[in-house]
Amino acid sequence: MLRQVADGVLIHESEFCQSNAVVVQGRAGVLLIDPGVLGYEMAALANDLRELGQPVVAGFSTHPHWDHLLWHPRLGSAPRYGTARCAATVRDRLPDARAKARVAELIPPDIVEQVPLDLLGLVTGLPAEVAQIPWDGPRIRIIEHQAHAPGHAALLIGERGVLVAGDMLSDVLIPMLDLNGTADPIEDYLAALRLLEGAAGDVDVLVPGHGSTGGADQVRARIDQDRAYVHALRDAHVLSDPRVGPAATFGKDWLPGVHARQLQGLARRSGSDATPG
Ligand SMILES: [Zn+2]
Repeated sequence: MLRQVADGVLIHESEFCQSNAVVVQGRAGVLLIDPGVLGYEMAALANDLRELGQPVVAGFSTHPHWDHLLWHPRLGSAPRYGTARCAATVRDRLPDARAKARVAELIPPDIVEQVPLDLLGLVTGLPAEVAQIPWDGPRIRIIEHQAHAPGHAALLIGERGVLVAGDMLSDVLIPMLDLNGTADPIEDYLAALRLLEGAAGDVDVLVPGHGSTGGADQVRARIDQDRAYVHALRDAHVLSDPRVGPAATFGKDWLPGVHARQLQGLARRSGSDATPG
């Protein structure tokens, strides 16, 4: 079920929302980034890794959204990391079992039975000064930024030429801004795109959290596409984005709604900013 995208880097694409789990081979086992969504898929991934003689020695969640915080018991009990801000957000939002029940309400009803929530969000925060994932494998740089979610991180596996982008730079999802977690979501998102642009000069393979992998040309194209979307959102311009255009097939039932809510949310913010007092 795993597909190699670069030397020592493999991915599995979930049936849910084209979510990509990323496996990076290290010396004594693998790092698993955003393990997946459906229980049977994560169990199959665990089996495949076991057959390859590659235990999971570390995990990483790119950001504190439920579909990136899951884990399956068969993946074992390796340390799971996220940025400090990611881990703090998980602690705030998931303080107890009742909070987990609320998470279940966010999951599409047709799959909720198949999503194992027992090990949701058990991530250890890496302090901001930790620039690399602490593990025995290729150097993986943590590129933290404020854009899609608090403490969102892209991961740069420089020696393999791979950028794991989390929920940025997707070919199927429009940029989804964190409208509540930051004072200036538009400028934060643009700053994050500049940061990724600066880091991705030598990248050959781009792996988004959802959607298709891309080559070097796609890194540039998707940064440009996401920037154009954010500019259109900021300026309330008419959108010409293929991801929410008439020919889009992915998410056509719900992505236009996401776009409309982002427009409304930003209009409301600028309205409240203008209110005296
Ligand atoms: Zn996601």
